Amino acid sequence: MAKPRIATVSLCGCFGCHMSLLDIDERILALVEKVDFDRSPVNDIKQIEGAVDIGLIEGGCCNEENVRVLREFRRHCRVLVSVGDCAINGGVPALRNMVPLAECLQEAYVHGPSVDNPDGRIPNDEEIPLLLDRVCPAHEVVRIDAYLPGCPPSADALWAALTALLAGQTPELPYELLKYD
Ligand code: SF4
Repeated sequence: MAKPRIATVSLCGCFGCHMSLLDIDERILALVEKVDFDRSPVNDIKQIEGAVDIGLIEGGCCNEENVRVLREFRRHCRVLVSVGDCAINGGVPALRNMVPLAECLQEAYVHGPSVDNPDGRIPNDEEIPLLLDRVCPAHEVVRIDAYLPGCPPSADALWAALTALLAGQTPELPYELLKYD
């Protein structure tokens, strides 16, 4: 019988949620016995290759490429999980939502204290994904089936959530795995 397939994607995040997944340590051996990985930075597969049972999203959407990738990811995933605060509410990148985008770009490329940009040009090559006016969480772009909060969620929380999902259950994690004090 074919193994369940898992895919992960990093959008506007810091890879900390993926590092937390790696922190399941030796349990990763049990995981790869049970599942096959599709697209994921963990195995460096960059394009999703087929139908996936569980998709894990790190990061929200800060640019048009994030939106395109997330929509394609949704199309391939039966169950889609927002992992971490950036996917769930935009996280740290969403701090820029309090400042108009044009002002953010001016500060980053023209007026910032460490900027040396005598021409005052803001990069706009067509190869650079267009920034959205605001960073938005994944659920504002696609339907999300489950949420796993934390920055990042702990390895134990990720393991518990994956174990439940692979058993066909909705993850209901105990308080100990969801408190951050
Ligand atoms: S939730 Fe935290 S650890 Fe995860 S991508 Fe965002 S900043 Fe990084």
